[in-house]
Amino acid sequence: MELEFYGAAGRVTGSCHILKVNGRRILLDCGLIQGLPEEEALNAEPFPFEPSEVDAVVLSHGHIDHSGRLPLLVSRGFSGPIHTHPATRDLALVLLQDSARLNERDTRYRNRLRARKQLSPLDPLYTVEDVVDTINLMQGLRYGEKKEILPGTAIRFMDAGHILGSAMVELWLTENGRTTKLVFSGDVGQYGSPILYDPAEIGEADLVVVESTYGDRLHKDRDLTLVELAAIIEAARAGKGNILIPAFSIGRSQELLYLFGKYHEEWGLGDWQIFLDSPMAIEASRIYWQYPELYDEEATRLRRMAHEMPKPENLHFTREVEASKKINDIEQGAIIIAGNGMCNGGRIIYHLRHNLERPECHVVITGFQAVGTMGREIVEGAETVRIRGDDFRVRAGIHTLGGLSAHGDRDDLLRWIGGFSTRPHVYVVHGEAAVKDSFARTIREETGLETTVPAPGDIVHL
Ligand SMILES: [Zn+2]
Repeated sequence: MELEFYGAAGRVTGSCHILKVNGRRILLDCGLIQGLPEEEALNAEPFPFEPSEVDAVVLSHGHIDHSGRLPLLVSRGFSGPIHTHPATRDLALVLLQDSARLNERDTRYRNRLRARKQLSPLDPLYTVEDVVDTINLMQGLRYGEKKEILPGTAIRFMDAGHILGSAMVELWLTENGRTTKLVFSGDVGQYGSPILYDPAEIGEADLVVVESTYGDRLHKDRDLTLVELAAIIEAARAGKGNILIPAFSIGRSQELLYLFGKYHEEWGLGDWQIFLDSPMAIEASRIYWQYPELYDEEATRLRRMAHEMPKPENLHFTREVEASKKINDIEQGAIIIAGNGMCNGGRIIYHLRHNLERPECHVVITGFQAVGTMGREIVEGAETVRIRGDDFRVRAGIHTLGGLSAHGDRDDLLRWIGGFSTRPHVYVVHGEAAVKDSFARTIREETGLETTVPAPGDIVHL
């Protein structure tokens, strides 16, 4: 029995680990590497195994950095089952189709440049057809149900509280009459976040593989975040402006709609028009509303009272481009949630062109902004930004809300690890190098558990 760390061990994105049990091969996640172009080029490299020789995949959740290389695995020969939560299968269809379309568009653009240099055209990483083949291999497994997926390998999903359908994976691996219990954290959510349950406590494990995205820092207080959001709405009302929220389609957008529904009266949202201006976020919201059994106590109670998922009354879904453009006629009283979250593309760009130079308007940043994105420039206080070739002065109010992350912070991760009744060996993955080292140290100091930060290609014999 062995576990090989392949993807996320060496970097933040591209989660993938390889298990060998009883001569069978199981992948835990198969994520896309995201980042600089030279890093993303690694996605097209061969897998360090023959895809047709993989017996099964276990997928923790739908985010592209965990699922995004699956269509490539399938197009290169994998034809086994992909075990995942039914909600993850629904979200993965939306996310992977989007990923395929972006990739096909990007490849067409690069091929035009290559043609000018008389270079041969490239193939996209995968196509929408590959995505359909991938979804067809997915087998749904609900939280709390134990299932033998291969001889000697049983799994059970527990709620990770990160996005809808996100799972921590318990694995019971039996070889030569000896059973080892491995727990793979996937991505761990924040305790106390709206809509979803807190990360589940798991009693026993011999080994734990844990993510460490925010393993070295604490999020801003959630209650304070709500106070800030209310104050921004008040300021925009007084100044007679609009509010723009560049949003991530899965999770953050649904959380915002939920909060706007919950605090509708309190924040005086009756006078506002709220727009969800992103076809992908609209699709993801629809999926969130189809799984009320996954809501925590508060969301269940609010849903019962309203007979539907709490969301603001004056909410408009704008799927068509024309409807999106019409929003720009509104000078005041609009809250516009549009992708993408880092302002490096998507419809938010056009709303920024119309509102960024107006001091009475406000831009609310709700998530991590990567280096090189316009979102990062704005957050770092740029005086002007260039949007589609034109310069715009940043005169709108810029606010960063820290309390809405889908990821647990250092204390959330520690709390989850502290929930084990056994003394597992902890392998720290899925974080920037310095963060992983720092979080492994924190675990040792706070819990006394043994920790390892594996390098890519490291193999642990179980
Ligand atoms: Zn995730």
